Amino acid sequence: MAFYFDHAATSPIRQIAVDAWVAASSALNASAQYASGRQARSVLDDAREKVAELMGCEPIEVIFTSNGTEANNLAIRGLYEVGTTNRVVTTPVEHPSVRETVNHLASRGASVDYMPVGGNGHFEGSAIELLDAPADVATMMMANNETGALFPVERYIERAAAQGTPFHVDAVQVVGKIPLNFTALGATSLSSSGHKFGAPRGTGFLLAKRAPAPATVMFGANQERKLRPGTVDVAGASALAAALEESLGEAATHARNQEVWRSRIIEACMGIDGAVLRSEEPCLHSHVYVSFPGADADSLIMLLDMAGIEASSGSACHAGVNQMSHVLEAMGVTAEEAGGTLRFTMGTATTDEGVNYLVEKLPGIVERARAANS
Ligand code: PLP
Repeated sequence: MAFYFDHAATSPIRQIAVDAWVAASSALNASAQYASGRQARSVLDDAREKVAELMGCEPIEVIFTSNGTEANNLAIRGLYEVGTTNRVVTTPVEHPSVRETVNHLASRGASVDYMPVGGNGHFEGSAIELLDAPADVATMMMANNETGALFPVERYIERAAAQGTPFHVDAVQVVGKIPLNFTALGATSLSSSGHKFGAPRGTGFLLAKRAPAPATVMFGANQERKLRPGTVDVAGASALAAALEESLGEAATHARNQEVWRSRIIEACMGIDGAVLRSEEPCLHSHVYVSFPGADADSLIMLLDMAGIEASSGSACHAGVNQMSHVLEAMGVTAEEAGGTLRFTMGTATTDEGVNYLVEKLPGIVERARAANS
């Protein structure tokens, strides 16, 4: 069995989610009025109420989706549709599900302003000023999926609210790790993905206030306030609610363990000549993002894999061409400085044994990757 350090990509399913899924798997159509429909509806209502309680919102604000990508699309496109300014404010470090949605709006005539980040992956003081003019929607992630940087979204939400700008928060990397209260946060909408906290892949939710509500951009029947039409996955919703409850219940313990493991991994990385840490505080303690100039990311991933360590890199393969991550680019990092950038992310499958193994193997692996590159 390999040691898994890619929890930010997806996390192992929790047994409690499997059990909840199995228990609800025979649920039929939650929209039907006959007995089996009412039974399915009751399971779905329970799941919705649990999510609402855990996320500090009203049940009606919970829209079950099939993942975080769908939630981001529905919110950003839907809020843009109801606006009148044709302006969008976002950041250059968003996940592709936000970035490409915004690019789509730009291709239809939206003017987009990007709040810049500095070399440390955090926003500079003046970035917030872009919110001082109204926009149809402002969208900002709560924590970056690559660096783990945690962003003070509350301040940005408040600033946007002063202009009446609806604010969408991509909280995919945070939900289940840090307790959140949607009502207190003041955002217009918030997205989450179940498989990041141990629910089945193919589950997620959007929290959306009733006003201003996003317009419908996906057309069909009346389910999920018409925002996400289609027969609802009752078993998935039930599994998601169970996983979220357990994940939040364990969050404090995980955070403590991860703080210790994270320091050990960083120490091991910084002991390697030329290494540059790319995840600076305030940061999710699950993340270590680090560049090894002179090494190639693919070689590093392959050598780690051969050693039984699964991690991801700071580059994405687009049409067979390896491109440096847009997040590193936004931080002003050159391709040469980025070198082989690795992301280690921790979660339920992380153990002392795995961390010991990683810190022991990593220096030799970087050395071999650099030698292969020279
Ligand atoms: N937003 C962020 C910050 C993410 O990290 C991800 C997935 O990695 C997503 C959105 C998309 O989530 P999903 O894979 O569930 O569509």
